[in-house]
Amino acid sequence: MNIEESFLRCTACEQDAEHVVVYAGRFVSQIKCAGCGAVTRLDVSEDYLPDLRQRISSKPRRLMRRLRRDPGELASSLPRSTLSKPGRMAAEFRIVWRSRRGR
Ligand SMILES: [Zn+2]
Repeated sequence: MNIEESFLRCTACEQDAEHVVVYAGRFVSQIKCAGCGAVTRLDVSEDYLPDLRQRISSKPRRLMRRLRRDPGELASSLPRSTLSKPGRMAAEFRIVWRSRRGR
């Protein structure tokens, strides 16, 4: 998960203001207006999961099956054991999963 700040036109208050942009992997998953506090969540799960699959494609096939079956369950067990940047991965997963439930 990366966080960046950019100057954007807010869709809620329609002011040009600082926005906190949260990335899951290379996808924008959340934008928060520093002016009015409006949060825009983007559902990145459709893009993110295939992308993640690619990123960990060197991992064992068993892992890939679990990812397809239940990414949420995988998120809770994967970070501790497998990935090289566990904390970051877990944070990304939480962001993505939250955006997914919001549908
Ligand atoms: Zn705003």
